[in-house]
Amino acid sequence: MTRFRFSLFLALGLAMALTAQFAAAQGGFLRLKGDFVQGGLVLGRTEPGAEVALDGRTLRVDPKGNFVFGFHRDAPAEARLSVRFPDGRTEERALAVEARDYDVQRIDGLPPRMVTPPDAVLARIKAENAKIAETRRNDGATPYFLDGFVWPTVGRISGIYGSQRILNGQPRQPHYGIDIAAPAGTPVRAPAGGVVTLAEDDLYYTGGTIILDHGHGLTSAFLHMKDVEVTLGQAVAQGARLGTVGSTGRSTGPHLDWRINWFQARIDPQLLAGPMPKKETN
Ligand SMILES: [Zn+2]
Repeated sequence: MTRFRFSLFLALGLAMALTAQFAAAQGGFLRLKGDFVQGGLVLGRTEPGAEVALDGRTLRVDPKGNFVFGFHRDAPAEARLSVRFPDGRTEERALAVEARDYDVQRIDGLPPRMVTPPDAVLARIKAENAKIAETRRNDGATPYFLDGFVWPTVGRISGIYGSQRILNGQPRQPHYGIDIAAPAGTPVRAPAGGVVTLAEDDLYYTGGTIILDHGHGLTSAFLHMKDVEVTLGQAVAQGARLGTVGSTGRSTGPHLDWRINWFQARIDPQLLAGPMPKKETN
């Protein structure tokens, strides 16, 4: 009897496994590759002509079936990906998003004007932020991000993604970039191909600032630059020179602050670029 029940249990298990296999075979081609973690980016490939949505937001799918999405610093533990294949079949996937612990960075004794901008510049800051936000709404058709990402400059990492900042005891926006300390004048190169959607010499907070559009809502920003050597609308290849490291805007020393966004979601550049190379190779 026991043996019979055991076999029945096995048979039932096998049947369930087969059903699951069958259900998977019913769906179309869908492959996801990347970091399923807060600040992570995921590359997807599906059938050309498929419609893909993440948490209800329609994603751009290129003619070869490539798409991309990312998870914000404080993304919830689960995201839902839904796909409608060209033949009408659909697939829903629950994606588990790993939570991260972030550093807390306390900086005290700063001059008050570095923590709270004077009233006279508030309108300027607002206008600059609006311009930056606009570049991050762009959903460019060319998937430059398929190149992969390399470090835009080489140096000691002096600030990491996600740190909570408490300035003079007041909690401020987390640090969304990766800071690379390097001497002023060190070349900054495109980590992936893209189109320049912002090229400014002197923004209030970030000084010399470039934003590169890598396609499908993915952008890189380069802050505090000494020289901005590209112009609005220019297309650049991976490795192309963009300008040089500086300490412009509200900065305490020469470094490159490199940020990546997927639309408004902040992505951790370090997850994409991998280990820092030993020294500048070009
Ligand atoms: Zn920074």
